[in-house]
Amino acid sequence: MNKAIFFDRDGTLIVDKFYLNNPKDVEYLPGVFSNLENLRDAGFLFVIVTNQSGIPRGWVSEENLHSIHKRMSKDFAIYNIEFKGYYYSPHMPESDHPDRKPNPGMLLRAAKDFNIDLTKSWMVGDKMSDVEAGHRAGTKTILIDTKGSARSSQYKPPTAYVHTFPELAQVILSSSV
Ligand SMILES: [Mg+2]
Repeated sequence: MNKAIFFDRDGTLIVDKFYLNNPKDVEYLPGVFSNLENLRDAGFLFVIVTNQSGIPRGWVSEENLHSIHKRMSKDFAIYNIEFKGYYYSPHMPESDHPDRKPNPGMLLRAAKDFNIDLTKSWMVGDKMSDVEAGHRAGTKTILIDTKGSARSSQYKPPTAYVHTFPELAQVILSSSV
């Protein structure tokens, strides 16, 4: 079975813009490429799991969403980095759809699609709903706590808190040796 890292997209891999709807506006967070290279070399598969309520709101077109992910996959390919899947949940927050984080639907589907052992895997995000989705799926979890407010969340705390992408890679690499 494979081990994987499930990444939230906005605020985790790329700058969280308000309902990103144009591939030209993709902006990577510092250290993403070099640290993904290290995590890839440690044997992890990568999967993106992103809530996209902008779609039902009419603020993000599904076609543009696919173009954004196509651009990202091209950018990553330059570094021989591959995301196995770009899963997205086009549902409103109040829908409680099984795919919408904090529900674990996207992670569970990806685990089936790519033969992933969830207990050896990580969910990483900048919101406690990302962390909770990981817990519900049975992964270890990391919160990139840039806002500092997440500690008062109703959800169970993550396995680790970090502030930057390089720090996150360090936590994962040091706990898997
Ligand atoms: Mg996010």
